[in-house]
Amino acid sequence: MSARATDRVIRLIRSSEHLYLGTHIRPDGDALGSLLGLMLALEDQGKRVAALCADPVPDNYRFLPGAHRISSQPPAWPAQLGIVLDCDGLSRLGPLEPAFAALPHLVDIDHHHTDHAFGEDRLVDSRAGATAEIVSRLLKGMAIQLTPPVASCLYAALLTDTGRFCFGNTTAHSLHIAAEMVEAGADPHQIARRVYEERSMEATHLLGLALSRLSSDLDGQVVSVMLTREDFARTGAAPGDTEGIIDHLRAIGGPRVALLLVEPQNSSVRVSLRSDGTVDVSEIALCFGGGGHMMAAGCTVTGAAEQVRRRVLEVIGQAFARAGAQDA
Ligand code: 5GP
Ligand code: MN
Repeated sequence: MSARATDRVIRLIRSSEHLYLGTHIRPDGDALGSLLGLMLALEDQGKRVAALCADPVPDNYRFLPGAHRISSQPPAWPAQLGIVLDCDGLSRLGPLEPAFAALPHLVDIDHHHTDHAFGEDRLVDSRAGATAEIVSRLLKGMAIQLTPPVASCLYAALLTDTGRFCFGNTTAHSLHIAAEMVEAGADPHQIARRVYEERSMEATHLLGLALSRLSSDLDGQVVSVMLTREDFARTGAAPGDTEGIIDHLRAIGGPRVALLLVEPQNSSVRVSLRSDGTVDVSEIALCFGGGGHMMAAGCTVTGAAEQVRRRVLEVIGQAFARAGAQDA
């Protein structure tokens, strides 16, 4: 990501009065924090901004400043510029993709490892711990003073995408930016409480079911859990309540890969993958049309749950075999 690319994007933003900002379906903390942080900062500059996401904001992110303003429908007014955040490919916008594809100019701001290029201008840096790091760089380039609401959004994004500053993507740089956000008014204690410590009873029951159903595969190298439609009906949990479950699987010592399979409403299965670094799970997700990062990736696979589980395990097995051959 060059300084020239950043300068071009800054010029584009300065010359655009109306902007659409968008982020991915099933939004996470980085998606929402980056979207809202940039929305609030640009509004402070007098821009008219629509923040768009096709899926609802999960309960634990509703406290983010401006979260109630996120819409699943484009506004009636047109925009000169679209900025797409944390999306590994335009299709990650889901039903909002056509509204963005029709804009005169698109900017892609992202940190994904798998590269599904789109947009006329791109600020993509796979070494960034979170998309929010790139947003913070952009705001710095525009000499925009961080307000407490903007800082809170960007801090929440950094906190969640780095797994509370524990994952392999945590760098001195991400910690440095987090410190800047705290200096600008983000409250680390309050934000962590709101994001992590207000899990509903329903979601906690779902977590309990998941943990009662651990399966060990490929000679103990993979730990997997399947959640069915019936589990959601039984517990009353919402689709977004699966967030964080995979972290409990990741925390188990021994397995190299953690796998969470979730049967949603239609005839497909949501797959989340986490790796200890032995294999690159974004490559596995890519085989099924998904993507992500080396140590965290996901995809949606059509088919019956058990059949999908077997197919994904087979591809993980092949990745282990390749990794083993490289080591030998
Ligand atoms: P999660 O397992 O938490 O849903 O996703 C982990 C990572 O993989 C995130 O960075 C997310 O953006 C990416 N990811 C998850 N699902 C998909 C998908 O269907 N397509 C792509 N391209 N990336 C995904
Ligand atoms: Mn992200």
